[in-house]
Formats: sequence, structure tokens, C-alpha cells
Amino acid sequence: MRMEFVEIKAKAKINLSIDVIKKREDGYHELKMVMQTVELHDSIRLKAVKSGIELICNHPFVPSDSRNLAYKAAQLFLDKYKVKSGVRIEIEKRIPVSAGLAGGSTDAAAVLKGMNELFSMGIEDSRLMMDGKVLGADVPYCIKGGTMLAEGIGDILTELNPLENVVVVLIKPGLSVSTAWVYKNLDFGKIVDKPDMDIVVEAINSRKIDVLAKNMRNVLETVTAEKYNIIHHIKERLVELGALGSLMSGSGPTVFGLFEDRKTAEKAYNTINSGKWECFLTHTTR
Ligand code: ATP
Repeated sequence: MRMEFVEIKAKAKINLSIDVIKKREDGYHELKMVMQTVELHDSIRLKAVKSGIELICNHPFVPSDSRNLAYKAAQLFLDKYKVKSGVRIEIEKRIPVSAGLAGGSTDAAAVLKGMNELFSMGIEDSRLMMDGKVLGADVPYCIKGGTMLAEGIGDILTELNPLENVVVVLIKPGLSVSTAWVYKNLDFGKIVDKPDMDIVVEAINSRKIDVLAKNMRNVLETVTAEKYNIIHHIKERLVELGALGSLMSGSGPTVFGLFEDRKTAEKAYNTINSGKWECFLTHTTR
């Protein structure tokens, strides 16, 4: 039976480390990174309508037309699975935009999963993940979520032990960074501090948060943090305020800190959240 409407959380991701292995002949970069879902999310509401796609989004800088990745996901779903009706999508955005938190990809993933439910199609996640690939390299990961090692262009996924309930403070300084700009400006000669992925993965699998936090590295900081020194500053500030470790997520500019306990994290969050930057107190989840 078809459902009236579906409401779904589109959760953000952080990267617990990123390494760039090489630039491929086709222009894409080969990566090795750890993806982790956090509770911070956009809320997506889907409703079946007669035909077409209607989209409403509460964020002034996110397009409400066919440029929105959630719209593209809905179009793909309607076409591919020959759905005879349309869909209305409401997006309540909380995830900062162009921030390294995969906001667009997670909305697209939520629309694919939500439409599968709305129209009672029973399509397997693995199939939706293959469909989602054309929308963006992070979309397959966002469909599954959790703790994963991502290789290739980010689409070859290996599940790690789920790292749940680690307290995270996220800080997004008031600048937006384009992922394309970061990769264009990546200079392999400037990368000296690469993550040791074996140590990172082993720390996650044995839930040694302290070892993980001390060994997190993101080679994209050589581009983003070199241009915007504020990223180094926020990382240092989070550690001063008790974070076990701190890193830029994705291509930035969001910085996160991992905390041993909620009390220390709350204190850090309250100290840093003075209205200057977007700040979030959240935790890792599936
Ligand atoms: P990533 O970490 O995958 O690089 P990001 O968090 O840096 O992603 P997004 O928030 O996904 O970046 O936004 C990147 C661009 O995509 C913005 O210019 C935005 O206008 C556009 N966009 C299209 N659809 C969406 C959406 N549903 N949510 C957010 N941004 C969207």
C-alpha cells in the first residue's frame, strides 16, 4: 500500500581522515578516507502528488529547482523506476552549505531512500547506491551511512566497526569553500603529513578514541587551511578546550573536535559559540 507521506533524517558526515593517493588520467582524484555519520541532519518530508516534482527548501542559498541535488535524485527515481505519479519534497536545512559535511549528497540519498518507502518499491539499498553514484561520489555512502573506509573516488566502501556516540563539536567559520577549487589547487609536493590509515582503522575497530583522535589527518588542509588560517586557529582552540583531537572535514571549512565526554564538549561548545561561527554539539551515529 502506498504511504501518504514520509519523513526522513538526512544526516551529515565528517571525515575522520582523508588521504589523496593520486590524480587519475580522467581528472578525478583517487582517495582513501574514513567517513562517519553524525546526528546533525536536514529533515526531508516527501509526499506523493499527481505529477512532476515540487521542491521547497528553507535555505536562502540553496536552489529550489532542478539544480538541487534532492530534485535530481527525485527525477532519477521517477524516471528509472517508471513511477506514475510525482513527488513534493520539503527540505528543512540545518547542515551548513558548502561546508565539507556532504549536505547536498545526504539530501539526495534521503530522497532516494524516502521515495523507495513512499511508493513501497522494496528496492535494495545496494541498488539505490548504484543509482546514486551518478548524482555524486558521496551519495552511495550517504545511503548506507555509519563508519566506512572509502576508496577509489570515494565510492568503494568498506564497513568499519560502527563508531557510535562519540561527542563531536562542529565549527563552521563564515566562509564557503568549493570542493572543485580545493582539488584544483592540491599540490602533492606540499603534502607532508599523511594519515596512517592502518592506525586510524585499527583505532576505530577497537574503539580507541584517543588513538584515533591523535592520528586523524586531512591532506586537503594543505589547500584550505593554508589559504584560511582561521581553520588552524579553530583546530587549536578546540584542543585547548579539551578535544582529544581536531580536524577539518572534507574540503572544509568545517572543523570538528572529538571529545571524551559530553560535559567537556558542552563547555567547549558554549565557550566557542559566541555568534561568530556556526557551532553544533552533536555525536557520531549510524
Ligand atoms: P561535500 O562535502 O560533498 O563536498 P559540501 O558539504 O561541501 O559537500 P554542499 O552543502 O553539498 O557542499 O553544497 C555544495 C553546493 O551544492 C552548493 O553550491 C549548493 O548550493 C548546492 N546544492 C544543491 N543541492 C543542495 C542541497 N540539497 N543541499 C545543499 N546544497 C545543495
